[in-house]
Amino acid sequence: MTYTTSGNGLGPFTFDIEKLSQCSFEVGPIRPPSEGGSHSLLLRATRNCSWNRCKFCYGMIYNREKFELRSVEDIKKDIDAVRAIADEIKAVSWKLGYGGEVKADVGIAMLRSDPRLRASQSFVLVFDWLHFGGSTVFLQDANTLIMPTHQLLQVVRYLKETFPAIERVTSYARAKTLAKKPLEELKELSSAGLSRLHVGLETGDDELLSYVDKGVTAAEHIDAGKKAKEAGFELSEYVMTDLGGRARWEQHARNTARVLNEINPDFIRLRPLAIGPGLPLYEDYTKGILQLSSPHERLREVKTLVENLHVTGRVCFDHFLNSWYRDSDRRYTLFKQDYNGYRFPEEKARVLQLIEEGLRIDESTHIHVKDLIGIAHL
Ligand code: SF4
Repeated sequence: MTYTTSGNGLGPFTFDIEKLSQCSFEVGPIRPPSEGGSHSLLLRATRNCSWNRCKFCYGMIYNREKFELRSVEDIKKDIDAVRAIADEIKAVSWKLGYGGEVKADVGIAMLRSDPRLRASQSFVLVFDWLHFGGSTVFLQDANTLIMPTHQLLQVVRYLKETFPAIERVTSYARAKTLAKKPLEELKELSSAGLSRLHVGLETGDDELLSYVDKGVTAAEHIDAGKKAKEAGFELSEYVMTDLGGRARWEQHARNTARVLNEINPDFIRLRPLAIGPGLPLYEDYTKGILQLSSPHERLREVKTLVENLHVTGRVCFDHFLNSWYRDSDRRYTLFKQDYNGYRFPEEKARVLQLIEEGLRIDESTHIHVKDLIGIAHL
């Protein structure tokens, strides 16, 4: 089918709308915010969560649907679909005189040409990915490492062969799975191009890990994190502020710092607890078993964590639930929320200074997590 663009005066261009409409690939519901910031391509290697039991999550983000492995053949078909869409977009770029560069004008011209493309999530995702460099990929869903290693290796290698420009391939990984995987297999995956892992540490306190049914101990977290680093992965560890509530905040902060010091991950990312109806932890909250901390109490917990951290990575507050407050009609965040956060140990004093500033701000202007009950999984 032939379309005429009015964008740059270079005249008519063609693309195969039928082919594009038929090309699609499967995408799961979530990815870490930093992968959104990188405009990573999302590829679904497995479906849902293999655990589904953590009391603050309960696999609700995946609608508690059953975990499934996908076949290597199906995942490769998805990669082929991405390739076909990317080829078509680049061909239009050449026809419009942009030399294969995926400029915004290319997408605008294509979308204006045929409204059906607006409904194609696959087209939109691939366009966005290429427009922002096409260099990072996130493998979904909650625990890709649970795939048999030889299968995951095939997927990563095929992905890199199909798109040699890819610089980073990332995935979530459960610490339990990492701890069970032989180091040699992890090294093979890292060498093949799986480069960054996101692990939900949540807490380094064994009592809390057991209470929230994380299914892993602090010692296993340390083992998993150390192995991931030794295998050559870049490692992000997620910490859940306020998971211990008022009763256990201090042991939570101190033991989490202890575990993180042992692992020394590349990134520590703080994700404050947010709960809502349907979650077991919300039931505990309504029964008074869990008492949520106030905004200043949360900040004191973060202060204890930071004071006890002796790591050489980055500490990131890249989520809007990290300490925010109102001033007149405006909302402010205490910490910067970019994906690279603060470099430790160099900027540790700066983070502690910000915490002190937050503690001096009237607590009633801080936004309390109770105001957000019902907004879980953000
Ligand atoms: S936190 Fe992760 S491992 Fe736990 S239930 Fe949710 S998705 Fe699964």
